Amino acid sequence: MTSTFSIHPAVDNGIQPGVEGFAGGTLVCHCPQDPVKVQIDAQSAHNHACGCTKCWKPKGALFSLVAVVPRDKLKVTEHAEKLAVVDAGATIQRHACRQCGVHMFGRIENSAHPFYGLDFVHTELSPDRGWSAPQFAAFVSSIIESGTSPALMGEVRARLKSLGLEPYDCLSPALMDAIATHVAKAAGTLKG
Ligand SMILES: [Zn+2]
Ligand SMILES: [Zn+2]
Repeated sequence: MTSTFSIHPAVDNGIQPGVEGFAGGTLVCHCPQDPVKVQIDAQSAHNHACGCTKCWKPKGALFSLVAVVPRDKLKVTEHAEKLAVVDAGATIQRHACRQCGVHMFGRIENSAHPFYGLDFVHTELSPDRGWSAPQFAAFVSSIIESGTSPALMGEVRARLKSLGLEPYDCLSPALMDAIATHVAKAAGTLKG
């Protein structure tokens, strides 16, 4: 089936499954010379398509693909000097290459945040194969904020479902439950 739109080039022709035992790889920015390199010594988790306006996405794609890795398993190995934080006021501080604009990793510095300790990464930046596959689509309605016609949303959601990416307008139920659990434990509402 062909679509008039691209969900994301890495999934438009079907989703590649992750490889069991895959233990990480290197992310490389888009600079033809002196690219920023980020080494990750772990498999990614919670990979998903994201329609928010903040995530970096390749040209023409309606969604980003974004996953998390433990922050202590991620290190910048080459050309760290080219990185700058896109928006220092944002919850997720996205470290982008100033030359090509690609976001190399997003980090939460607030230790009370439910996702503290996890960095957000785009595994498509890695030539290594075996990263965990995207499992769902988050913040689907937000693509309207990036200029997608509301009239196209039915078709976009149908396409996501046909790819096996259940569309949600926030995060997936499992992640929303994890956030609410963290908040309830912090507040003392939930014990244990
Ligand atoms: Zn670059
Ligand atoms: Zn996003």
